[in-house]
Amino acid sequence: MKKLSDPVNTLKGVGIKTQSALAKLGIDDINDLLTYFPFRYSDFHVKNLNNIIDGEKVTLRGKISGIPIVNYFGRRRSTLRFKLLVNKNNVVVTFFNQPWLKKQLIPGNEILVYGRFNTNRLSLSGIKILSHQVSNQMAAIYPSNKNIRSNTIKKLVQEAYQEYHQLIFDYVPEWLIKKYRLEHEEEVIHDMHFPDNQKEALLARRTAKFNEFFLYQMKLQLMKIDHQTHNGIRIKYNRSKINDFIKQLPFKLTNAQKKVVQEIDLDLTRPVQMDRLLQGDVGSGKTIVAAIAMYATIMSGYQVALMVPTEILAEQHANNLANLFKNLPIRIGLLTGSTKTTARNELLPRLANGNIDLIIGTHALIQDPVKYHRLGLAVIDEQHRFGVNQRKALRKKGHNPNVLAMTATPIPRTLAITSYGDMDVSIINEMPRGRKPVLTSWIRSKQFKDALPIILKQLKKGEQIYVVTPLVEASEAIDMRNAENIYQQFKSYFGSQFKVGLLHGRMKDEEKNQIMNDFKQRKIQILVSTTVIEVGVDVSNATMMIIYNADHFGLAQLHQLRGRVGRGSAQSYCLLIADPKNKLGEKRMQVMVDTNNGFIVSQKDLELRGPGDLMGHEQSGLPEFKVGDPVSDVVILNVAQQEAIGIIKQPDWQTQPVNSNLKLKINQDSTHDILD
Ligand code: ADP
Ligand code: MG
Repeated sequence: MKKLSDPVNTLKGVGIKTQSALAKLGIDDINDLLTYFPFRYSDFHVKNLNNIIDGEKVTLRGKISGIPIVNYFGRRRSTLRFKLLVNKNNVVVTFFNQPWLKKQLIPGNEILVYGRFNTNRLSLSGIKILSHQVSNQMAAIYPSNKNIRSNTIKKLVQEAYQEYHQLIFDYVPEWLIKKYRLEHEEEVIHDMHFPDNQKEALLARRTAKFNEFFLYQMKLQLMKIDHQTHNGIRIKYNRSKINDFIKQLPFKLTNAQKKVVQEIDLDLTRPVQMDRLLQGDVGSGKTIVAAIAMYATIMSGYQVALMVPTEILAEQHANNLANLFKNLPIRIGLLTGSTKTTARNELLPRLANGNIDLIIGTHALIQDPVKYHRLGLAVIDEQHRFGVNQRKALRKKGHNPNVLAMTATPIPRTLAITSYGDMDVSIINEMPRGRKPVLTSWIRSKQFKDALPIILKQLKKGEQIYVVTPLVEASEAIDMRNAENIYQQFKSYFGSQFKVGLLHGRMKDEEKNQIMNDFKQRKIQILVSTTVIEVGVDVSNATMMIIYNADHFGLAQLHQLRGRVGRGSAQSYCLLIADPKNKLGEKRMQVMVDTNNGFIVSQKDLELRGPGDLMGHEQSGLPEFKVGDPVSDVVILNVAQQEAIGIIKQPDWQTQPVNSNLKLKINQDSTHDILD
């Protein structure tokens, strides 16, 4: 029997290659595919009769070739029938219960009709008549990557819709659909992928946003109840040891760091579960704060897990923490997707029986075989890169462990609360002493030669340089080629005196780690890289960041990248190379030149982005949402939250028939059943 959870390879033409390409986009099953929405539409076209699959919903263009006839059945039911001449074929079109359409149907006129086509009978069950101005169907354009084209995705979505649309069900309760004039799920899915016009696409998107936020809020509120009904772990530790640890650090904590350490300390020592979001601009020193919480937790006999979004970052944290804790009896393990089987087989039992105190890794940490002995603290770095399910999965690895989630994305407090539920928020709003703001300048690519002496000057001082190469959304293969070209260029400029390294996403992880380590140990002076170094990387001797095609990046992303430098006391520089084609693009570059403050950057980013920008959420730093942008759609978000809270407040909501589909959907979306 067909299920929406069928893997994508049940579709025709999906082999291993396509399947893994889809997996990279987060598409594993039919449901993922159907909710993988286009980011824009273009190119109108009408279907040719020969290309229509039986039962497909299509738009036909044709001439009305006979007089339309209305037949009534009782008072309310009727059929309106007429012949449409499409490429010399007469198609019989029937509209049910819409007799008023007859007025629009003048024999001899050419019209566009949208409906479900029957290939055997050459008939169309009409859904609507389209006006000529809107022309016909729009073609959806999907976010794609190197391995798969938008058009392939489109074909697969069409096939999936064809095969599975009967299984699409409404999980938002009917009364909510009515209350907010939402669309039914099948219509949403249909119109998001195959809209007839912009308006239809926008209406569908409105509902899709609501649905997404609503489902998210349901899960969030359930998680909140889950915390409240359980007691947390009370950590008992020796405060003077913590103070000794802080004293021996090579720097003094900033006041903001001290304040956050106190907030965390209070949470840990109370018998409630800590659930804290730590926000601090790039380079503000969040890691050390987390390390203090880790030490306290481990000292009282519990384990700590640190989950990060990339292997490079996991590796880096493992090195830094090992160094930070080198005089303490803390046993550290590293677990990522590329951890070798033998190492893994050795590590997992030690983790399970408590012989590892601190495990650092990517989402490998939440996979099934990974068992913990006494998980007391889960730290999630760059938390905006993880979804609610992943956060929950990590939590579930222990019995109500404390949670510390960290992010550099400056989210207004109210928004943080709506999008992260009841998390407490701590803010580090101060940079370590002695930091000089990064000086940013913007040049056009033809001016690049002028920058060479400045680059040389930095290198001669013994400082290091990152070069980030263009982001070409079309394909990672092109990204890699660009990176290689630029790498060759830098080698030709500086290769005789300095070592240039290359890092890109297609390299093996071992290779990446080797390059990163060489850079850290100053064996490499210039690191040419794709955006794999975007988050978290910390090499304080690197003082210059050069970003090619800077206008292709989101401002938040540029800010993250820029945050890789300015981590020591030396003056750092960021050089943006960009040839924006319009005023808006120029303004965006100017924002980066004018301010170093992540909060202002993100605010300006929002102001400059138009309300119709569908790509918005990708750049807001909250990619957890596929269609909704928690910033610009905050009104929808609030409404969805209120309704979710309202439902969950009813003690018997889970047994009410109106909520049965909702319950089903929540369970389907999670790796483990959340609800009984
Ligand atoms: P982020 O908040 O972006 O994760 P990190 O925790 O990586 O920042 O810290 C950035 C750099 O600043 C690190 O090299 C760290 O050792 C250093 N650092 C952290 N706190 C201080 C401080 N109070 N004084 C000086 N340097 C600090
Ligand atoms: Mg960090």
